[in-house]
Amino acid sequence: MSVLAASQEHDIAVVGGGLVGAAVAYGLARAGQRVALLDGGDAEVRASRANFALVWVQSKGLGLPQYAHWTVRSSDAWAGFAAQLKEETGLDVAFERPGGFQLALSQAELETRAAQVNRLHNQAAELPYRTEILDRAEIESMLPGLGPDVVGGSFCPIDGHCNSLRLYRALHMAARLHGVRYLPSHRAERIACERGAFRLATTAGDVRAGKVVLAAGNANLHLAPMVGLEAPMRPERGQIMVTERVAPFLRYPVATVRQTDEGTVMIGDSKEEGTSPDGLTMPVNAVMASRAMRMFPVLGRLNLVRMWAGVRVMTADGFPVYDQSETCPGAFVVCCHSGVTLAANHALTLAPMIAAGRLDADLLGPFSARRFHVPKAA
Ligand SMILES: Cc1cc2nc3c(=O)[nH]c(=O)nc-3n(C[C@H](O)[C@H](O)[C@H](O)COP(=O)(O)OP(=O)(O)OC[C@H]3O[C@@H](n4cnc5c(N)ncnc54)[C@H](O)[C@@H]3O)c2cc1C
Repeated sequence: MSVLAASQEHDIAVVGGGLVGAAVAYGLARAGQRVALLDGGDAEVRASRANFALVWVQSKGLGLPQYAHWTVRSSDAWAGFAAQLKEETGLDVAFERPGGFQLALSQAELETRAAQVNRLHNQAAELPYRTEILDRAEIESMLPGLGPDVVGGSFCPIDGHCNSLRLYRALHMAARLHGVRYLPSHRAERIACERGAFRLATTAGDVRAGKVVLAAGNANLHLAPMVGLEAPMRPERGQIMVTERVAPFLRYPVATVRQTDEGTVMIGDSKEEGTSPDGLTMPVNAVMASRAMRMFPVLGRLNLVRMWAGVRVMTADGFPVYDQSETCPGAFVVCCHSGVTLAANHALTLAPMIAAGRLDADLLGPFSARRFHVPKAA
């Protein structure tokens, strides 16, 4: 038996049991790896429990067209992925891809949106999706009940949404069914690379593994340097409100308003500076509620039943970081915003690469943290 095999308990330790870590762990186990999934405790701050559940394409890829390709790949894989999760766990994650809207409440907003869409599609590299600008009449035929202030908007036919809390549960359930050892309340505090294997000192004792995947969200900032990697993060706060249940009236998700499979309407989500989910900034919620009611006046008659703030996992430039360590071979880092949208890729495409020991060049090229090593202007 090799030194490595004798010293390791698992083939791979995945650090972080949010949507990203759970999707990667599930994919690794499906690829035949023995996986330990290390996580924090019940009270941890998790973007995975606070998100808006869009599987969203429009707007993705400005400044990095490869991100648009990566997103569309996941969007295209999502239906099969949802079916696979249902078959394995019995849970329906309620994925739908009817197309989605971003609505404008003034001519100025519509012009700004049209200019954004133009910039996106006028990049040198062609994007793998189209976003159309529609006028009010065209939108009204698709979204009955539209408020009089809506002047137009953008529509992307491959946008969708799901039930992301059920997705989170399904990923954990499927991972365990494939033999993943879930270790809650095992926060990794130090990671050492020893003779080709990894020793993770956690709050509940040591865990050893042949490889390690850092999928701890914003905490990757501090963990990555322990294994010769980096993950520059810029967390961002966001708030969401939820109404009582109502008969289905919204056939398409809108970027800031969507009706869930359970009948509630989610309104969100703000972008605020801050790294704490504590407390609610009510003036921000007031603006979100007022805009939502101008889009769909019926919302003014509904009670709100929940609201919360969450903290987005966000890298310094907003694009994902997928990287592998050169100084500690076998160590990988994975972090991104849009962990719902990219869940299919993480389980079906990224995890098999990690299981094989190397990220493909077309993933490393655009998404390695080496992109942050640009010379600073004098
Ligand atoms: C308001 C809001 C709206 C959003 N809307 C969308 C959307 O519509 N569509 C979309 O695709 N995405 C959306 N997102 C983003 C999406 O939720 C995230 O990309 C995703 O949840 C990130 O998952 P994660 O696993 O990286 O991070 P998290 O969910 O934050 O999980 C990190 C995990 O790591 C664990 N951890 C941390 N440190 C350690 C350690 N040292 N050792 C072990 N474990 C550790 C934590 O306990 C936690 O479980 C939204 C996010 C927010 C906040």
